[in-house]
Amino acid sequence: DNGAHVPALVIGTGYGGSVAALRLAQAGVDVHMIEMGMAWDTPGSDGKIFCNTTAPDQRSYWLRTKTKQPLSNFLGFPIDRDIPRYTGILDAEEMGGIIVYQGRGVGGGSLVNGGMAVTPKRANFGAILPSVDAEEMYGTYYPRANAGLGVGLVDPAWFDTVDCYQFARVGRKHAQRSGFPFVFVPDVYDWDYMKQEAAGTAPKSAVAGEILYGNNAGKKSLQKTYLAQARATGKVTISPLHKVTSVSPAAGGGYTVVIDQINTTGATTATKTVVADKVFFAAGSVGTSKLLVRLKATGALPALNGEIGKGWGDNGNVMCGRANHLWDPTGKVQASIPCGGIDNWDAGGAFAEVAPLPTGIETYASFYLSITKNPNRAEFTYNAASGNVELNWQTAWKQPSIDMAKSIFDKINSKEGTIYRTDLFGTNKIWGDHLTYHPLGGAVLNKATDNYGRLHGYTGLYVIDGALIPGNTSVNPFVTITALAERNIEKIIAADL
Ligand code: FAD
Repeated sequence: DNGAHVPALVIGTGYGGSVAALRLAQAGVDVHMIEMGMAWDTPGSDGKIFCNTTAPDQRSYWLRTKTKQPLSNFLGFPIDRDIPRYTGILDAEEMGGIIVYQGRGVGGGSLVNGGMAVTPKRANFGAILPSVDAEEMYGTYYPRANAGLGVGLVDPAWFDTVDCYQFARVGRKHAQRSGFPFVFVPDVYDWDYMKQEAAGTAPKSAVAGEILYGNNAGKKSLQKTYLAQARATGKVTISPLHKVTSVSPAAGGGYTVVIDQINTTGATTATKTVVADKVFFAAGSVGTSKLLVRLKATGALPALNGEIGKGWGDNGNVMCGRANHLWDPTGKVQASIPCGGIDNWDAGGAFAEVAPLPTGIETYASFYLSITKNPNRAEFTYNAASGNVELNWQTAWKQPSIDMAKSIFDKINSKEGTIYRTDLFGTNKIWGDHLTYHPLGGAVLNKATDNYGRLHGYTGLYVIDGALIPGNTSVNPFVTITALAERNIEKIIAADL
Protein backbone atom coordinates (compact mmCIF):
# COMPACT_ATOMS: atom_id res chain seq x y z
CA ASP A 1 0.00 0.00 0.00
CA ASN A 2 1.04 3.55 -0.62
CA GLY A 3 3.01 4.91 2.34
CA ALA A 4 3.70 1.52 3.87
CA HIS A 5 6.91 0.61 5.68
CA VAL A 6 8.26 -2.90 5.00
CA PRO A 7 11.30 -4.65 6.51
CA ALA A 8 12.33 -6.32 3.23
CA LEU A 9 11.27 -5.53 -0.31
CA VAL A 10 12.20 -7.86 -3.15
CA ILE A 11 12.09 -6.54 -6.73
CA GLY A 12 11.13 -9.45 -9.00
CA THR A 13 9.87 -12.98 -8.40
CA GLY A 14 12.31 -15.12 -10.41
CA TYR A 15 14.90 -17.49 -8.96
CA GLY A 16 16.95 -15.01 -6.95
CA GLY A 17 13.90 -13.22 -5.60
CA SER A 18 12.11 -16.42 -4.63
CA VAL A 19 15.08 -17.79 -2.73
CA ALA A 20 15.51 -14.48 -0.89
CA ALA A 21 11.81 -14.30 0.00
CA LEU A 22 11.62 -17.85 1.31
CA ARG A 23 14.74 -17.73 3.43
CA LEU A 24 14.00 -14.27 4.85
CA ALA A 25 10.46 -15.35 5.74
CA GLN A 26 11.75 -18.51 7.40
CA ALA A 27 14.07 -16.27 9.44
CA GLY A 28 11.01 -14.36 10.65
CA VAL A 29 11.17 -11.34 8.33
CA ASP A 30 8.06 -9.96 6.63
CA VAL A 31 8.76 -9.77 2.91
CA HIS A 32 7.02 -7.83 0.17
CA MET A 33 7.68 -8.93 -3.42
CA ILE A 34 7.03 -6.57 -6.33
CA GLU A 35 6.48 -8.15 -9.76
CA MET A 36 5.82 -6.23 -12.98
CA GLY A 37 4.22 -9.23 -14.69
CA MET A 38 0.91 -10.92 -13.99
CA ALA A 39 0.07 -13.47 -11.29
CA TRP A 40 -0.67 -16.29 -13.79
CA ASP A 41 -3.10 -17.99 -11.43
CA THR A 42 -6.39 -17.53 -13.31
CA PRO A 43 -7.54 -19.53 -16.35
CA GLY A 44 -8.46 -17.70 -19.55
CA SER A 45 -11.65 -18.25 -21.54
CA ASP A 46 -10.27 -21.58 -22.83
CA GLY A 47 -10.01 -22.88 -19.26
CA LYS A 48 -6.22 -22.74 -19.34
CA ILE A 49 -3.84 -20.37 -17.62
CA PHE A 50 -1.22 -20.50 -20.38
CA CYS A 51 -1.52 -20.62 -24.16
CA ASN A 52 0.22 -23.15 -26.36
CA THR A 53 3.43 -22.53 -28.27
CA THR A 54 1.64 -23.48 -31.49
CA ALA A 55 -1.23 -21.01 -30.93
CA PRO A 56 0.07 -17.82 -29.34
CA ASP A 57 -2.65 -15.39 -28.23
CA GLN A 58 -2.55 -12.22 -26.10
CA ARG A 59 -1.12 -14.22 -23.21
CA SER A 60 2.05 -14.99 -25.16
CA TYR A 61 4.03 -11.73 -25.38
CA TRP A 62 4.82 -8.82 -23.13
CA LEU A 63 3.26 -5.64 -24.59
CA ARG A 64 3.56 -6.46 -28.29
CA THR A 65 1.03 -6.34 -31.11
CA LYS A 66 2.80 -9.10 -33.01
CA THR A 67 4.53 -12.23 -31.76
CA LYS A 68 8.34 -12.27 -31.84
CA GLN A 69 9.04 -15.99 -32.03
CA PRO A 70 12.62 -17.13 -31.48
CA LEU A 71 12.27 -19.24 -34.61
CA SER A 72 10.80 -16.57 -36.81
CA ASN A 73 10.41 -18.55 -40.03
CA PHE A 74 9.52 -21.97 -41.33
CA LEU A 75 10.34 -23.14 -44.83
CA GLY A 76 11.43 -19.55 -45.33
CA PHE A 77 8.04 -18.04 -44.46
CA PRO A 78 7.63 -15.67 -41.51
CA ILE A 79 5.37 -17.22 -38.88
CA ASP A 80 4.78 -14.31 -36.52
CA ARG A 81 1.17 -13.26 -36.09
CA ASP A 82 -0.82 -10.31 -34.77
CA ILE A 83 -1.89 -10.42 -31.13
CA PRO A 84 -3.63 -7.92 -28.86
CA ARG A 85 -1.23 -5.84 -26.78
CA TYR A 86 -1.25 -7.35 -23.31
CA THR A 87 1.01 -8.03 -20.34
CA GLY A 88 1.80 -11.49 -21.72
CA ILE A 89 4.28 -13.93 -20.28
CA LEU A 90 7.32 -13.73 -22.58
CA ASP A 91 9.25 -10.54 -23.14
CA ALA A 92 11.32 -10.35 -26.32
CA GLU A 93 13.25 -7.28 -25.23
CA GLU A 94 15.17 -5.65 -28.07
CA MET A 95 18.48 -4.33 -26.75
CA GLY A 96 20.14 -3.05 -29.92
CA GLY A 97 22.31 -5.91 -31.15
CA ILE A 98 20.44 -8.66 -29.32
CA ILE A 99 16.92 -9.74 -28.40
CA VAL A 100 16.83 -10.87 -24.78
CA TYR A 101 13.97 -13.29 -23.99
CA GLN A 102 12.70 -13.15 -20.41
CA GLY A 103 9.75 -14.41 -18.41
CA ARG A 104 7.28 -11.85 -17.04
CA GLY A 105 5.05 -12.77 -14.14
CA VAL A 106 5.09 -14.31 -10.70
CA GLY A 107 7.81 -16.91 -11.11
CA GLY A 108 9.96 -14.94 -13.60
CA GLY A 109 11.88 -17.07 -16.07
CA SER A 110 10.62 -20.29 -14.46
CA LEU A 111 7.27 -19.65 -16.18
CA VAL A 112 8.65 -19.86 -19.71
CA ASN A 113 11.90 -21.78 -19.59
CA GLY A 114 12.68 -25.37 -20.57
CA GLY A 115 13.28 -26.35 -16.96
CA MET A 116 16.72 -27.74 -17.78
CA ALA A 117 18.36 -27.79 -14.38
CA VAL A 118 22.07 -28.20 -14.88
CA THR A 119 24.84 -28.01 -12.31
CA PRO A 120 28.08 -27.01 -14.04
CA LYS A 121 30.98 -29.42 -13.99
CA ARG A 122 33.02 -28.63 -10.93
CA ALA A 123 36.20 -28.20 -12.95
CA ASN A 124 34.53 -25.28 -14.74
CA PHE A 125 33.28 -23.52 -11.63
CA GLY A 126 36.40 -21.43 -11.03
CA ALA A 127 35.86 -19.68 -14.35
CA ILE A 128 32.16 -19.07 -13.63
CA LEU A 129 32.36 -17.47 -10.16
CA PRO A 130 36.04 -17.03 -9.32
CA SER A 131 35.52 -15.46 -5.89
CA VAL A 132 33.17 -18.16 -4.59
CA ASP A 133 34.33 -21.20 -2.60
CA ALA A 134 33.58 -24.19 -4.85
CA GLU A 135 33.74 -26.59 -1.90
CA GLU A 136 30.80 -24.84 -0.24
CA MET A 137 28.83 -24.57 -3.47
CA TYR A 138 29.14 -28.24 -4.40
CA GLY A 139 28.87 -29.47 -0.81
CA THR A 140 25.94 -27.34 0.32
CA TYR A 141 24.35 -24.83 -2.02
CA TYR A 142 24.02 -26.72 -5.30
CA PRO A 143 22.41 -29.66 -3.45
CA ARG A 144 20.12 -27.23 -1.60
CA ALA A 145 19.11 -25.55 -4.86
CA ASN A 146 18.47 -28.85 -6.63
CA ALA A 147 16.28 -30.01 -3.74
CA GLY A 148 14.37 -26.73 -3.56
CA LEU A 149 13.74 -26.68 -7.30
CA GLY A 150 12.60 -30.32 -7.47
CA VAL A 151 15.17 -31.40 -10.07
CA GLY A 152 14.83 -34.87 -11.57
CA LEU A 153 16.13 -36.98 -14.45
CA VAL A 154 14.28 -38.68 -17.28
CA ASP A 155 14.02 -42.48 -16.94
CA PRO A 156 16.53 -43.64 -19.58
CA ALA A 157 14.62 -46.86 -20.34
CA TRP A 158 11.42 -44.90 -20.99
CA PHE A 159 13.36 -42.33 -23.03
CA ASP A 160 14.58 -45.15 -25.27
CA THR A 161 11.10 -46.19 -26.36
CA VAL A 162 8.72 -43.25 -26.24
CA ASP A 163 7.60 -41.43 -29.41
CA CYS A 164 7.91 -37.93 -27.96
CA TYR A 165 11.68 -38.27 -27.53
CA GLN A 166 12.45 -39.61 -30.97
CA PHE A 167 13.95 -36.21 -31.79
CA ALA A 168 16.36 -36.56 -28.87
CA ARG A 169 17.29 -40.12 -29.79
CA VAL A 170 18.15 -38.96 -33.31
CA GLY A 171 20.20 -36.20 -31.71
CA ARG A 172 21.99 -38.74 -29.53
CA LYS A 173 22.68 -41.09 -32.43
CA HIS A 174 24.17 -38.34 -34.55
CA ALA A 175 26.29 -37.02 -31.67
CA GLN A 176 27.65 -40.42 -30.82
CA ARG A 177 28.35 -41.40 -34.42
CA SER A 178 30.61 -38.32 -34.59
CA GLY A 179 32.32 -39.19 -31.32
CA PHE A 180 30.67 -36.59 -29.07
CA PRO A 181 29.40 -37.53 -25.61
CA PHE A 182 25.60 -37.28 -25.27
CA VAL A 183 24.55 -36.54 -21.70
CA PHE A 184 21.13 -36.72 -20.08
CA VAL A 185 20.24 -33.34 -18.62
CA PRO A 186 18.12 -33.02 -15.45
CA ASP A 187 14.92 -30.99 -15.51
CA VAL A 188 12.30 -29.69 -13.11
CA TYR A 189 9.49 -31.30 -15.12
CA ASP A 190 7.49 -33.96 -13.26
CA TRP A 191 8.67 -37.04 -15.16
CA ASP A 192 5.89 -39.25 -13.77
CA TYR A 193 3.37 -36.81 -15.16
CA MET A 194 5.20 -36.84 -18.49
CA LYS A 195 4.90 -40.62 -18.64
CA GLN A 196 1.16 -40.33 -18.02
CA GLU A 197 0.57 -37.66 -20.64
CA ALA A 198 2.62 -39.59 -23.19
CA ALA A 199 0.53 -42.68 -22.40
CA GLY A 200 -2.69 -40.70 -22.77
CA THR A 201 -3.77 -41.13 -19.15
CA ALA A 202 -3.38 -37.45 -18.14
CA PRO A 203 -4.10 -34.17 -19.94
CA LYS A 204 -1.32 -33.43 -22.41
CA SER A 205 0.98 -30.56 -21.58
CA ALA A 206 4.68 -30.92 -22.47
CA VAL A 207 3.70 -33.58 -24.98
CA ALA A 208 1.29 -31.07 -26.53
CA GLY A 209 4.11 -28.55 -26.88
CA GLU A 210 3.35 -26.26 -23.94
CA ILE A 211 6.48 -24.44 -22.81
CA LEU A 212 7.49 -21.05 -24.20
CA TYR A 213 4.28 -19.30 -23.14
CA GLY A 214 3.86 -21.33 -19.97
CA ASN A 215 3.09 -24.92 -19.08
CA ASN A 216 -0.29 -25.92 -17.66
CA ALA A 217 0.64 -29.15 -15.90
CA GLY A 218 3.92 -30.95 -15.22
CA LYS A 219 6.50 -28.20 -15.00
CA LYS A 220 7.56 -27.30 -11.49
CA SER A 221 7.86 -23.56 -11.95
CA LEU A 222 8.79 -21.45 -8.92
CA GLN A 223 5.08 -21.02 -8.26
CA LYS A 224 5.03 -24.70 -7.27
CA THR A 225 8.34 -24.80 -5.38
CA TYR A 226 10.09 -21.85 -3.70
CA LEU A 227 7.17 -19.43 -3.99
CA ALA A 228 4.63 -21.96 -2.69
CA GLN A 229 6.85 -22.56 0.33
CA ALA A 230 7.39 -18.84 0.78
CA ARG A 231 3.64 -18.16 0.74
CA ALA A 232 3.06 -20.98 3.22
CA THR A 233 5.11 -19.11 5.81
CA GLY A 234 2.37 -16.45 5.88
CA LYS A 235 5.07 -13.79 5.86
CA VAL A 236 5.35 -13.12 2.12
CA THR A 237 3.04 -10.93 0.05
CA ILE A 238 3.34 -10.50 -3.70
CA SER A 239 2.11 -7.54 -5.75
CA PRO A 240 1.82 -8.49 -9.43
CA LEU A 241 1.46 -5.83 -12.15
CA HIS A 242 3.61 -3.50 -10.06
CA LYS A 243 6.88 -2.16 -11.45
CA VAL A 244 9.66 -0.60 -9.38
CA THR A 245 10.91 2.61 -10.97
CA SER A 246 13.10 4.09 -8.25
CA VAL A 247 15.02 3.27 -5.07
CA SER A 248 16.76 6.00 -3.08
CA PRO A 249 17.83 6.59 0.52
CA ALA A 250 14.93 7.66 2.76
CA ALA A 251 15.30 10.60 5.12
CA GLY A 252 14.74 8.58 8.28
CA GLY A 253 16.79 5.53 7.18
CA GLY A 254 16.00 2.71 4.81
CA TYR A 255 15.03 3.28 1.20
CA THR A 256 12.18 4.98 -0.58
CA VAL A 257 10.88 2.69 -3.31
CA VAL A 258 8.67 4.12 -6.05
CA ILE A 259 6.34 1.64 -7.72
CA ASP A 260 4.03 2.02 -10.74
CA GLN A 261 0.91 -0.10 -10.72
CA ILE A 262 0.07 -1.05 -14.32
CA ASN A 263 -2.94 -2.53 -16.11
CA THR A 264 -2.87 -5.30 -18.71
CA THR A 265 -2.21 -2.85 -21.54
CA GLY A 266 0.88 -1.64 -19.70
CA ALA A 267 -0.55 1.75 -18.73
CA THR A 268 0.25 3.14 -15.28
CA THR A 269 -2.87 3.36 -13.13
CA ALA A 270 -1.29 4.44 -9.83
CA THR A 271 2.11 5.38 -8.44
CA LYS A 272 2.95 4.25 -4.91
CA THR A 273 5.78 4.98 -2.53
CA VAL A 274 6.89 2.67 0.24
CA VAL A 275 9.86 2.68 2.60
CA ALA A 276 11.89 -0.52 2.97
CA ASP A 277 14.69 -1.26 5.42
CA LYS A 278 16.32 -3.63 2.97
CA VAL A 279 15.87 -3.88 -0.80
CA PHE A 280 16.79 -6.94 -2.85
CA PHE A 281 17.29 -6.38 -6.59
CA ALA A 282 16.04 -9.58 -8.21
CA ALA A 283 14.63 -8.16 -11.45
CA GLY A 284 16.83 -10.45 -13.57
CA SER A 285 20.14 -9.58 -15.22
CA VAL A 286 18.60 -7.01 -17.56
CA GLY A 287 15.99 -5.67 -15.13
CA THR A 288 18.42 -5.22 -12.25
CA SER A 289 21.16 -3.76 -14.47
CA LYS A 290 18.79 -1.29 -16.10
CA LEU A 291 17.47 -0.12 -12.75
CA LEU A 292 20.89 0.27 -11.13
CA VAL A 293 22.46 2.03 -14.12
CA ARG A 294 19.57 4.48 -14.26
CA LEU A 295 19.54 5.10 -10.50
CA LYS A 296 23.28 5.74 -10.43
CA ALA A 297 23.22 8.04 -13.47
CA THR A 298 20.17 10.05 -12.42
CA GLY A 299 21.43 10.70 -8.89
CA ALA A 300 19.07 8.45 -6.93
CA LEU A 301 21.96 6.15 -5.92
CA PRO A 302 25.08 8.11 -6.93
CA ALA A 303 27.46 6.19 -4.65
CA LEU A 304 27.08 2.90 -6.58
CA ASN A 305 30.50 2.02 -7.95
CA GLY A 306 31.88 2.02 -11.49
CA GLU A 307 31.23 -1.69 -12.00
CA ILE A 308 27.47 -1.14 -12.27
CA GLY A 309 26.24 -2.17 -15.73
CA LYS A 310 29.42 -4.06 -16.63
CA GLY A 311 30.25 -7.69 -17.31
CA TRP A 312 27.10 -8.63 -19.21
CA GLY A 313 27.09 -11.74 -21.38
CA ASP A 314 24.62 -13.91 -23.28
CA ASN A 315 25.87 -17.28 -21.96
CA GLY A 316 27.12 -17.77 -25.51
CA ASN A 317 23.67 -18.76 -26.79
CA VAL A 318 23.35 -19.60 -30.46
CA MET A 319 20.74 -21.73 -32.24
CA CYS A 320 20.78 -23.82 -35.37
CA GLY A 321 18.88 -26.58 -37.13
CA ARG A 322 20.05 -29.49 -39.25
CA ALA A 323 18.15 -31.10 -42.10
CA ASN A 324 18.06 -34.86 -41.67
CA HIS A 325 17.66 -37.51 -44.32
CA LEU A 326 14.21 -39.02 -44.79
CA TRP A 327 15.30 -42.11 -42.85
CA ASP A 328 15.90 -39.96 -39.75
CA PRO A 329 12.51 -38.42 -38.92
CA THR A 330 12.48 -36.52 -35.62
CA GLY A 331 8.81 -37.16 -34.87
CA LYS A 332 5.48 -35.43 -35.27
CA VAL A 333 4.98 -35.39 -31.51
CA GLN A 334 7.86 -33.90 -29.54
CA ALA A 335 7.94 -33.31 -25.80
CA SER A 336 8.67 -29.63 -25.23
CA ILE A 337 11.07 -30.45 -22.40
CA PRO A 338 14.63 -31.08 -23.58
CA CYS A 339 16.45 -33.84 -21.72
CA GLY A 340 19.80 -34.27 -23.39
CA GLY A 341 22.82 -32.40 -24.58
CA ILE A 342 26.05 -32.77 -26.53
CA ASP A 343 29.05 -31.93 -24.41
CA ASN A 344 31.98 -30.53 -26.37
CA TRP A 345 32.82 -27.81 -23.83
CA ASP A 346 36.38 -28.80 -23.08
CA ALA A 347 37.42 -29.50 -26.67
CA GLY A 348 35.34 -26.97 -28.60
CA GLY A 349 33.76 -24.55 -26.10
CA ALA A 350 30.19 -25.66 -26.79
CA PHE A 351 27.47 -27.49 -24.87
CA ALA A 352 24.50 -28.03 -27.17
CA GLU A 353 21.08 -28.95 -25.89
CA VAL A 354 19.13 -31.17 -28.24
CA ALA A 355 15.99 -29.10 -28.42
CA PRO A 356 12.49 -29.99 -29.56
CA LEU A 357 10.75 -28.37 -32.51
CA PRO A 358 7.19 -29.02 -31.42
CA THR A 359 5.38 -28.00 -34.59
CA GLY A 360 2.94 -30.93 -34.66
CA ILE A 361 4.22 -32.06 -38.07
CA GLU A 362 7.20 -34.11 -39.20
CA THR A 363 9.99 -31.68 -40.07
CA TYR A 364 13.01 -34.01 -40.40
CA ALA A 365 14.84 -31.23 -38.56
CA SER A 366 17.19 -31.52 -35.62
CA PHE A 367 17.27 -28.34 -33.58
CA TYR A 368 19.88 -27.20 -31.07
CA LEU A 369 20.48 -24.41 -28.58
CA SER A 370 24.20 -24.19 -27.94
CA ILE A 371 25.77 -22.62 -24.87
CA THR A 372 29.28 -21.52 -25.80
CA LYS A 373 32.37 -20.00 -24.20
CA ASN A 374 31.85 -16.65 -25.94
CA PRO A 375 34.36 -14.22 -24.37
CA ASN A 376 32.55 -11.01 -25.34
CA ARG A 377 31.03 -8.87 -22.59
CA ALA A 378 28.79 -5.87 -22.98
CA GLU A 379 27.96 -2.87 -20.81
CA PHE A 380 24.73 -1.06 -19.97
CA THR A 381 24.89 2.74 -20.05
CA TYR A 382 22.40 5.52 -19.48
CA ASN A 383 21.55 7.66 -22.48
CA ALA A 384 20.57 11.01 -20.99
CA ALA A 385 19.12 12.28 -24.28
CA SER A 386 16.63 9.44 -24.69
CA GLY A 387 16.30 8.60 -21.02
CA ASN A 388 16.90 4.93 -21.86
CA VAL A 389 19.43 2.43 -20.60
CA GLU A 390 21.26 0.90 -23.57
CA LEU A 391 23.40 -2.20 -24.02
CA ASN A 392 26.38 -2.06 -26.40
CA TRP A 393 26.24 -5.73 -27.52
CA GLN A 394 26.95 -6.18 -31.24
CA THR A 395 25.42 -8.96 -33.33
CA ALA A 396 28.89 -9.70 -34.76
CA TRP A 397 30.04 -10.60 -31.23
CA LYS A 398 28.24 -13.93 -31.70
CA GLN A 399 30.84 -15.10 -34.24
CA PRO A 400 32.91 -16.95 -31.59
CA SER A 401 29.72 -18.76 -30.54
CA ILE A 402 29.00 -19.78 -34.12
CA ASP A 403 32.55 -21.06 -34.51
CA MET A 404 32.27 -23.07 -31.28
CA ALA A 405 28.89 -24.53 -32.24
CA LYS A 406 30.36 -25.47 -35.61
CA SER A 407 32.92 -27.58 -33.73
CA ILE A 408 29.99 -29.93 -33.15
CA PHE A 409 27.65 -29.52 -36.09
CA ASP A 410 30.09 -29.24 -39.00
CA LYS A 411 31.44 -32.58 -37.88
CA ILE A 412 28.01 -34.17 -37.53
CA ASN A 413 26.90 -32.83 -40.92
CA SER A 414 30.00 -34.16 -42.59
CA LYS A 415 29.60 -37.57 -40.94
CA GLU A 416 25.90 -37.82 -41.76
CA GLY A 417 26.09 -36.21 -45.19
CA THR A 418 23.56 -33.58 -44.07
CA ILE A 419 23.31 -29.78 -44.20
CA TYR A 420 22.18 -26.95 -41.95
CA ARG A 421 18.59 -25.71 -42.18
CA THR A 422 18.56 -22.22 -43.64
CA ASP A 423 14.82 -21.52 -43.24
CA LEU A 424 14.30 -21.17 -39.47
CA PHE A 425 15.65 -17.71 -38.69
CA GLY A 426 14.88 -16.01 -42.00
CA THR A 427 15.56 -16.92 -45.60
CA ASN A 428 18.97 -18.37 -46.19
CA LYS A 429 20.11 -17.86 -42.62
CA ILE A 430 21.70 -20.72 -40.71
CA TRP A 431 22.44 -19.26 -37.28
CA GLY A 432 20.04 -17.93 -34.68
CA ASP A 433 22.61 -15.36 -33.54
CA HIS A 434 20.21 -12.50 -32.80
CA LEU A 435 19.00 -13.62 -29.38
CA THR A 436 19.68 -15.02 -25.95
CA TYR A 437 17.59 -16.89 -23.39
CA HIS A 438 20.33 -16.59 -20.77
CA PRO A 439 21.20 -12.98 -19.90
CA LEU A 440 23.82 -12.86 -17.12
CA GLY A 441 25.77 -10.10 -15.40
CA GLY A 442 25.55 -6.32 -15.17
CA ALA A 443 26.10 -6.15 -11.39
CA VAL A 444 28.84 -8.72 -10.98
CA LEU A 445 29.59 -10.41 -7.67
CA ASN A 446 32.67 -9.12 -5.88
CA LYS A 447 32.83 -6.16 -8.28
CA ALA A 448 29.59 -4.13 -8.20
CA THR A 449 28.81 -5.87 -4.91
CA ASP A 450 30.84 -7.52 -2.19
CA ASN A 451 31.32 -11.28 -2.31
CA TYR A 452 27.75 -11.83 -1.04
CA GLY A 453 25.76 -9.45 -3.22
CA ARG A 454 25.79 -6.38 -0.95
CA LEU A 455 25.90 -3.37 -3.25
CA HIS A 456 28.93 -1.17 -2.68
CA GLY A 457 28.00 2.32 -1.50
CA TYR A 458 24.73 1.49 0.28
CA THR A 459 24.03 -0.59 3.38
CA GLY A 460 20.86 -2.64 2.99
CA LEU A 461 20.81 -2.86 -0.82
CA TYR A 462 21.48 -6.26 -2.36
CA VAL A 463 21.65 -7.91 -5.77
CA ILE A 464 20.52 -11.56 -5.68
CA ASP A 465 19.78 -12.63 -9.28
CA GLY A 466 21.50 -13.47 -12.56
CA ALA A 467 23.04 -9.97 -12.67
CA LEU A 468 25.69 -11.25 -10.23
CA ILE A 469 27.07 -13.83 -12.65
CA PRO A 470 29.73 -12.55 -15.05
CA GLY A 471 28.20 -13.54 -18.38
CA ASN A 472 28.52 -17.32 -18.60
CA THR A 473 27.80 -20.47 -16.60
CA SER A 474 28.97 -23.10 -19.18
CA VAL A 475 25.52 -24.71 -18.92
CA ASN A 476 21.91 -23.49 -18.50
CA PRO A 477 22.01 -20.92 -15.71
CA PHE A 478 19.09 -21.16 -13.27
CA VAL A 479 20.52 -23.78 -10.92
CA THR A 480 23.63 -21.64 -10.48
CA ILE A 481 21.53 -18.50 -9.95
CA THR A 482 19.50 -20.37 -7.32
CA ALA A 483 22.52 -21.90 -5.58
CA LEU A 484 24.34 -18.56 -5.43
CA ALA A 485 21.22 -16.92 -4.01
CA GLU A 486 21.02 -19.67 -1.35
CA ARG A 487 24.65 -19.03 -0.41
CA ASN A 488 24.32 -15.27 -0.28
CA ILE A 489 21.03 -15.05 1.60
CA GLU A 490 22.34 -17.42 4.27
CA LYS A 491 25.24 -15.06 4.91
CA ILE A 492 23.03 -11.96 4.77
CA ILE A 493 20.54 -13.42 7.26
CA ALA A 494 23.31 -14.44 9.63
CA ALA A 495 25.26 -11.18 9.46
CA ASP A 496 22.91 -8.33 8.51
CA LEU A 497 19.57 -8.93 10.24
P1 FAD B 1 14.14 -13.76 -13.68
O1 FAD B 1 13.75 -15.17 -13.56
O2 FAD B 1 14.24 -13.16 -15.04
O3 FAD B 1 13.11 -12.91 -12.80
C1 FAD B 1 13.10 -11.51 -12.77
C2 FAD B 1 11.68 -11.04 -12.52
O4 FAD B 1 11.71 -9.65 -12.20
C3 FAD B 1 10.73 -11.17 -13.71
O5 FAD B 1 9.58 -11.86 -13.31
C4 FAD B 1 10.45 -9.74 -14.13
O6 FAD B 1 9.15 -9.57 -14.68
C5 FAD B 1 10.62 -8.99 -12.83
N1 FAD B 1 11.00 -7.58 -13.00
C6 FAD B 1 11.91 -7.05 -13.83
N2 FAD B 1 12.02 -5.73 -13.67
C7 FAD B 1 11.14 -5.40 -12.69
C8 FAD B 1 10.79 -4.16 -12.07
N3 FAD B 1 11.38 -3.00 -12.40
N4 FAD B 1 9.81 -4.18 -11.13
C9 FAD B 1 9.20 -5.34 -10.78
N5 FAD B 1 9.51 -6.54 -11.34
C10 FAD B 1 10.48 -6.56 -12.27
N6 FAD B 1 17.61 -21.53 -17.78
C11 FAD B 1 17.95 -22.78 -17.40
O7 FAD B 1 18.73 -22.96 -16.46
N7 FAD B 1 17.38 -23.87 -18.04
C12 FAD B 1 16.52 -23.74 -19.08
O8 FAD B 1 16.02 -24.74 -19.61
C13 FAD B 1 16.20 -22.42 -19.53
N8 FAD B 1 15.39 -22.23 -20.60
C14 FAD B 1 14.99 -20.95 -20.92
C15 FAD B 1 14.08 -20.75 -21.94
C16 FAD B 1 13.61 -19.48 -22.22
C17 FAD B 1 12.63 -19.27 -23.34
C18 FAD B 1 14.05 -18.37 -21.44
C19 FAD B 1 13.54 -16.99 -21.70
C20 FAD B 1 14.97 -18.56 -20.43
C21 FAD B 1 15.45 -19.84 -20.16
N9 FAD B 1 16.38 -20.05 -19.14
C22 FAD B 1 16.75 -21.33 -18.80
C23 FAD B 1 16.98 -18.92 -18.38
C24 FAD B 1 16.38 -18.74 -16.99
O9 FAD B 1 14.97 -18.72 -17.05
C25 FAD B 1 16.92 -17.43 -16.40
O10 FAD B 1 18.33 -17.54 -16.32
C26 FAD B 1 16.37 -17.14 -15.00
O11 FAD B 1 14.97 -17.04 -15.01
C27 FAD B 1 16.97 -15.87 -14.43
O12 FAD B 1 16.60 -15.79 -13.06
P2 FAD B 1 16.65 -14.42 -12.28
O13 FAD B 1 16.28 -14.70 -10.87
O14 FAD B 1 17.94 -13.75 -12.55
O15 FAD B 1 15.54 -13.47 -12.98
